[in-house]
Amino acid sequence: MAQKYPQISLKRGKEESLDRFHPWVFSGAIHHMPEGIEEGDLVTITAHDGRIIGSGHFQIGSIAVRMLDFGDTVIDKDFYYTRLSQALALRRCLGLDRPDNNAYRLVHGEGDFLPGLVIDIYGSTAVVQAHSPGMHYARQIIAECLVSLPDANIKNVYYKSETTLPYKARLDPVNDYIIGSYETDIAVENGLKFHVDWLKGQKTGFFVDQRDNRSLLQHYSNNRRVLNMFCYTGGFSVYAMRGGAVKVDSVDSSAKAVALTRGNIDLNFPGDTRHSAYAEDAFKFLETMEPDSYDLIVLDPPAFAKHRSALRNALRGYQRLNAMAFKKIAKGGILFTFSCSQAVSKEQFRLAVFSAAASTGRKVRILHQLTQPADHPVNIYHPEGEYLKGLILYVE
Ligand code: SAH
Repeated sequence: MAQKYPQISLKRGKEESLDRFHPWVFSGAIHHMPEGIEEGDLVTITAHDGRIIGSGHFQIGSIAVRMLDFGDTVIDKDFYYTRLSQALALRRCLGLDRPDNNAYRLVHGEGDFLPGLVIDIYGSTAVVQAHSPGMHYARQIIAECLVSLPDANIKNVYYKSETTLPYKARLDPVNDYIIGSYETDIAVENGLKFHVDWLKGQKTGFFVDQRDNRSLLQHYSNNRRVLNMFCYTGGFSVYAMRGGAVKVDSVDSSAKAVALTRGNIDLNFPGDTRHSAYAEDAFKFLETMEPDSYDLIVLDPPAFAKHRSALRNALRGYQRLNAMAFKKIAKGGILFTFSCSQAVSKEQFRLAVFSAAASTGRKVRILHQLTQPADHPVNIYHPEGEYLKGLILYVE
């Protein structure tokens, strides 16, 4: 079928990365664009010689088009239904949709060939986040497809894009249910229960990307005194409790996060006195705490570098934070340390942690190198999709 979308042609040679299925067209690659194209419009991309490459969503900015299809498929409801069905099939293959686990990422942008779209599932509720104007305009169709996916049991679709859409696009998105309404805020991850606050919480309400790493932490928690720094909803703390930690302290600078953590501990371990939570700044807490107070420390800070321009400061931040933990952790201690900054590479993060270790003179060995879980797949043609990095270190 011939394409019906306005055609944007590329400069000579600029089709090469697209021919390798990289899903972004940078504004500098554009040779000609017809008048009247608006943000969020579907456009067809052609090479300099007129050959059709595929189609995607246009937006103003350095990434001008996010490719949805490398062919001549029409981007309609059937298109979204097919992509969402494929995404669900993958999560089923991963065994994530089970009675004891109903929290998982269904769509991870480029990793699911749907650039600009993130969908997390919490039981019967899907939380949809648009990162591009095109996905904002497609939200109703996407919601309708979600509730019609066979056996997925998705009944409610909450749209949450007030902070993820480009501000300048003036879309004025409203966070609200597109379909259905509030049912329950309790989701289950590996048999543990969590309140998920998609209305007011960060991102979609819960960090599903740490699921596998939390399981690993459970494995290492037995008989250890655990410090969960940057705890947010207390995911690592709840797993540490199940793993048999003798003491678990959770710290976050946000009082709201501390309350969420307490709530989640109560939900799984009511009345258990092993846990305490503190609303404090991480650097201050680490600075003032007694050495040898903890045998296992988790450092899972927010992205220190949201953009490349902030890279140097971010690396310094990681180095300082990790050095503080190396200084204070007990002998034979285990450090779980993470970076979720996309702008920081695995090598750069490792170097920052290496410098931190060296500055304290501790003997440190890498036990595990961690990354994002399989429901956050990385499209091999879009290596930028790899963002979560972690190390589990043995500190003598
Ligand atoms: N580990 C969490 C996710 C952490 S998100 C999980 O598994 O779900 C990052 C958290 O760091 C946020 O809750 C934020 O409030 C907190 N934070 C940001 N800056 C901080 C600081 N300087 N000190 C302590 N906490 C901070």
